[in-house]
Amino acid sequence: MTKPTSRDTAPVRKIGILGGGQLGRMMGLAGIPLGFEFLFLDPGASACAGVSGKLLKADFSDAEAAREMARVVDVATFDFENVPDSTAQAVEELCPLYPASNALGACQDRLVEKTLLSGLGIGVAGYHPVSSRTDLLEGLERLGYPAVLKTRRLGYDGKGQAVLRDQEDLERAWQRLGENELILEAFVPFQAECSLIGVRGGDGETRFWPLTRNVHDGGILALSRPGVFGAELQAAAEEKMHRLLEYFDYCGVLTIEFFLQDGELLANEIAPRVHNSGHWTIDGSACSQFENHLRAVSGMPLGHTDMLRPCLMFNWIGTMPDRDRTMAVTGLHWHDYGKEPRPGRKIGHATLTAETPEKLLERAVRLAEIAGGDFPALVEGL
Ligand code: AMP
Repeated sequence: MTKPTSRDTAPVRKIGILGGGQLGRMMGLAGIPLGFEFLFLDPGASACAGVSGKLLKADFSDAEAAREMARVVDVATFDFENVPDSTAQAVEELCPLYPASNALGACQDRLVEKTLLSGLGIGVAGYHPVSSRTDLLEGLERLGYPAVLKTRRLGYDGKGQAVLRDQEDLERAWQRLGENELILEAFVPFQAECSLIGVRGGDGETRFWPLTRNVHDGGILALSRPGVFGAELQAAAEEKMHRLLEYFDYCGVLTIEFFLQDGELLANEIAPRVHNSGHWTIDGSACSQFENHLRAVSGMPLGHTDMLRPCLMFNWIGTMPDRDRTMAVTGLHWHDYGKEPRPGRKIGHATLTAETPEKLLERAVRLAEIAGGDFPALVEGL
């Protein structure tokens, strides 16, 4: 199927999105000014993307519901990567799906992902497939302690994984995870974590936002700060992503999460979608990741990805600080996803902007004091 471009098809008006979480919601909010209408397929009757379009309540494994969506939209995309193959294929039979199912498949299984990355010459941590206890022992012999044992599928935000530092950790992790297909990875003593978000349009044009430094707390993203790495590292990251974009003949936004170790970038994960570490682009970039994704999948020209001013994103996990007190911090942009608070759940974020990096850090310290928890210590480490 050819990609829709403004030259060879009627303009896209209706976009179907598999998944109605906060990423879908932010796509919808970015797309309304462009004149798009949205239909979200999601199992939740009150999925938070519903504010920006219609909801079709169905399980992601319901291929018939996916067909129903595909029949009434001009193009489809998704806001999470665990869309079952059968659903993605059902959609692709009826309307263009971007990114296409080749990229989805590669990102759903950590072993397939690592094999692809290494095959393309993109550096990754040492890894070993684990389908049995014998495999695990072999892997540990090869890679040594410490190592990280992860489920191949359906892991996110540090779920479905364990750091193994000794035999005791091994036994505990095997009891908890041993029933799954697994991958053992060498533990990377990284100096920082970062991500690159890029976009490829229907005509093959590519653009990249600045590399973003990411700070996790308990396996979940807590802070993202773009624009703190030099031009050399940026170029190295872009070159790696370029290879993936061309390999997939990709259309839309793609993310690579990296470990930075001794000046080298090791790819940890790829996400075929907009990403939490790119939320700052709404308030800090000429064109956000959400708008550029929609521009790409609908065949529009891409927008500029420059960072307009220093910025820093705080993620609200489980609870949010008092909104009105927080809003008193200059340069603060508030984003509430309208989700029920629950421990470990992403329910909102705030992006701080400032004219200079010094002012940004001053404001970050104030915001961290208001937000409390681990934020003051995390901000201090920036
Ligand atoms: P993931 O689900 O692969 O993104 O892992 C969640 C977090 O666990 C990462 O952001 C890292 O902080 C940490 N982590 C994952 N894999 C490794 C590794 N091989 N070495 C060191 N830390 C890791």
